[in-house]
Amino acid sequence: MATRILSAREMKAEGQAIKARFKTTLGIEYLDKLPATIPPGKALVHNNVRPTRQLGLRGFRAWLVDPDDDRQSRRVVCDCGWAPELGKHYRLTR
Ligand SMILES: [Zn+2]
Repeated sequence: MATRILSAREMKAEGQAIKARFKTTLGIEYLDKLPATIPPGKALVHNNVRPTRQLGLRGFRAWLVDPDDDRQSRRVVCDCGWAPELGKHYRLTR
C-alpha cells in the first residue's frame, strides 16, 4: 500500500475542506478562539469533550450555531462553568 505524504499546503487544504463540509452538513463552524461576546442571534455550543480554555486541546471544540438550527437537536443547556463571561452555552449530548 502506497503512503501518500501530504505537503503542508495540502494538509491545510484538506483541513479546510473538512471544515467546509462540517459547515454545510451540520452548520458547524469551529471557533479558533472564543469571541469576546456571542454575536446576536447565535448560540455557543461545545462538544462533549471535557472543556478547556484552549479550543482544540484534547479534542475540545466549540462553535456558534443559529439557535433554531435543528441539525444539532441533541444539544442541551450546559452548566459546566466553562466560559462564564459568555453567558449561557450548550453542549452536545451523546
Ligand atoms: Zn459547557
